[in-house]
Amino acid sequence: MHIEIENLLQKIKSFVETELYPLETTENLTGNFSQIEPILLRLREKVKEVGLWGLALPLDMGGKGLSLMQFGKVSEILAKSPFGHFTFNSQAPDIGNMELLHKYASKEIKDKYLNPLAKGEIRSCFSMTEPEFAGSNPTRMGTTAIKDGDNYIINGHKWFTSSADGATFAVVMAVTDADAAPHNRASQILVPLDNPGYEFVRNIPIMGHAGDSWASHAEVRYNNVVVPRSNLIGKEGEGFLLAQERLGPGRIHHCMRFIGIAERSFELMCEYATKRELAEGKYLADMQSIQHFIAESRVEIDAARLLVLDTADKIDQFGSKAARNQISGIKFYTANMMLRVIDRAIQTHGGLGMTNDVVLSFWYAHERAARIYDGADEVHKSSLAKSILKEYRK
Ligand SMILES: Cc1cc2nc3c(=O)[nH]c(=O)nc-3n(C[C@H](O)[C@H](O)[C@H](O)COP(=O)(O)OP(=O)(O)OC[C@H]3O[C@@H](n4cnc5c(N)ncnc54)[C@H](O)[C@@H]3O)c2cc1C
Repeated sequence: MHIEIENLLQKIKSFVETELYPLETTENLTGNFSQIEPILLRLREKVKEVGLWGLALPLDMGGKGLSLMQFGKVSEILAKSPFGHFTFNSQAPDIGNMELLHKYASKEIKDKYLNPLAKGEIRSCFSMTEPEFAGSNPTRMGTTAIKDGDNYIINGHKWFTSSADGATFAVVMAVTDADAAPHNRASQILVPLDNPGYEFVRNIPIMGHAGDSWASHAEVRYNNVVVPRSNLIGKEGEGFLLAQERLGPGRIHHCMRFIGIAERSFELMCEYATKRELAEGKYLADMQSIQHFIAESRVEIDAARLLVLDTADKIDQFGSKAARNQISGIKFYTANMMLRVIDRAIQTHGGLGMTNDVVLSFWYAHERAARIYDGADEVHKSSLAKSILKEYRK
């Protein structure tokens, strides 16, 4: 098995380096996603031809059945290109929705939505955060799903529904019982986005760029959206439970992606430092401050990887709940580590680092959000510290 995984990782690495690195042109890094999407969709066919499709899927769906720890290693390699996860159909939020539907959806929903999602024929989104309420405390939420015979009627206002532009369905978090205990109030309901009550408001500009298609974050409204009650995922009132289930592996995926980005930034930093000549025979790499960037980055990336893989192993063995503290720890540690490494790599590149002629500034703009989504740093730190201190308060 060990050799098999190593071979798989090598194959993916070679695909990413030969097929995806050349796509990092200034034009592709500054344009909308829809510009490069047809090329990536063609490359998906190539991924299928070389037997690398379905890396994130379980065996019963024709996937590779990788453990979370093994998929984590895959995710690191895919992340070394900004186009890696999409080309291999392992991108958020679809990967999380695939896991969710595979575990909790009815056969009818699986046939209609999960199978085409797994084949890469459609896209999806996850619609939880609302502009009017603090996302850090999602038990407070304005969106409601009221039962009406065999249907739910959904009303609400959401934003940061990533990849809603062009998606076929959303998994919507909505309050189904306002009188229940805070964590039992909401449910997750699948909403097809061709529903007449669904309103796409806009793609929100992020760091000066609204983006489009998969690479976008939408503001949307659900205005009297009617869906059958059979579109409920899991049981009523289990919205938070499912969200926690989703976020455990989801945070491993994100963290391993952060490590891939840091590793690639590190490689670019080292390559540039050894080529940029400051004076006759004197290179950036000969400067002590640059050497310190490189040494610190090497150790920080390796430390983060060990932490994340150890957490993935714990989730594989004992489930997300048992690894809760570690998951909080890796989320803020790895996100900050990645941003430090990208920043050092940009500094090393000087003015060139600020341009879109190298991928670093693309990541600097797009990945700042890593300290906010899936739980802001402060929330994870407080949650971890509270759990540690509980032991001392006994
Ligand atoms: C690029 C991006 C993509 C996203 N994708 C999705 C998506 O697909 N679907 C979706 O539903 N949501 C998505 N989100 C939303 C994201 O999950 C929320 O932004 C996040 O949960 C924080 O909620 P908020 O923005 O309402 O900030 P708030 O909850 O208002 O918090 C604001 C700030 O206050 C601080 N803070 C909060 N709580 C505490 C505390 N307890 N102690 C100390 N400080 C605190 C933090 O610094 C935090 O950043 C995305 C966000 C971004 C930026």
